[in-house]
Amino acid sequence: MAEFTGRVAFITGAARGQGRSHALEFARQGADIVICDRCADSPAVAYPLATEADLAETVRLVEATGVRCLSAVVDTADRAAVDALVDRATGEFGRIDIAVANAGVSVAAPIQVMPQNMWDEAIASNLTGVFNTVAAVAPGMAERGYGRIITVSSMMGRAANTSMAAYSASKWGVIGLTKSAALDLAKTGVTVNAVAPGNISTPMIHNDFLYHLMRPDLDQPTSADVAPVFTSLHAQPVPWLEPEEVTRVVVFLAAEGSAHMSGIVVPIDAGNAARVTG
Ligand code: NAD
Repeated sequence: MAEFTGRVAFITGAARGQGRSHALEFARQGADIVICDRCADSPAVAYPLATEADLAETVRLVEATGVRCLSAVVDTADRAAVDALVDRATGEFGRIDIAVANAGVSVAAPIQVMPQNMWDEAIASNLTGVFNTVAAVAPGMAERGYGRIITVSSMMGRAANTSMAAYSASKWGVIGLTKSAALDLAKTGVTVNAVAPGNISTPMIHNDFLYHLMRPDLDQPTSADVAPVFTSLHAQPVPWLEPEEVTRVVVFLAAEGSAHMSGIVVPIDAGNAARVTG
């Protein structure tokens, strides 16, 4: 029997990128899958977010492994919508055992010129969305005496950089939320842990906005042009990592055998963690 046969895993922001990778791996290892994504752009985010076609493609890939997949267009900043999806999933699949609060956006601007809607979007999607996800699944998990919750922070949740006030604040917030929730749930059989990725090769980093921010000296910067800048953010000489490297850690934290690891933050950031305390 595969590791997650009989389990139900809920992954937010799973239309593409890391969320899709997590959903697919849980599916390959036997879990039934619940996924959501907002499937809409934001005026505060300078690159395209996922589409309904992306979400449908994740469903197709998950179902091709032979497990069940429930999907919905849900903005995780909307508590009522997240609660409704968790209720629906619990009705259809019986419960949620694993939740990965992965949905998030990247925004960047110097604090002197950061528009209010950029701050609001980062906090709504990256912090309130994680709260909404954790708060929606925690009561059922605690009642059943079993749960694995994984939140997604960032290396920018443990250190700062220019133009990162909103993003960094939201991701530092995820760590505080994760540790507090781990303590709240410590006697219930539910663990809560965070991953803190470095540069991960998804549309969040491969887009014109970020490329121009990194290479303002070039008219049309390519991935080869920005690679050295991304590399400088890591300690090991690699510009970005594949989503599957994060998935390996998410799956490890979600395993039944990880019962006594809770409240920790696992960096997957090509050695950048060595530069910060904690
Ligand atoms: P991505 O943009 O490919 O995926 C993020 C997904 O979340 C998209 O499909 C998007 O539509 C969705 N989303 C955004 N806001 C949402 C909301 N409010 N409700 C529902 N869905 C929403 O990027 P990714 O790299 O796969 O990002 C996944 C997570 O990893 C994010 O939390 C991100 O902040 C974090 N992260 C990414 C990197 C990186 O370098 N890519 C580094 C550290 C942390």
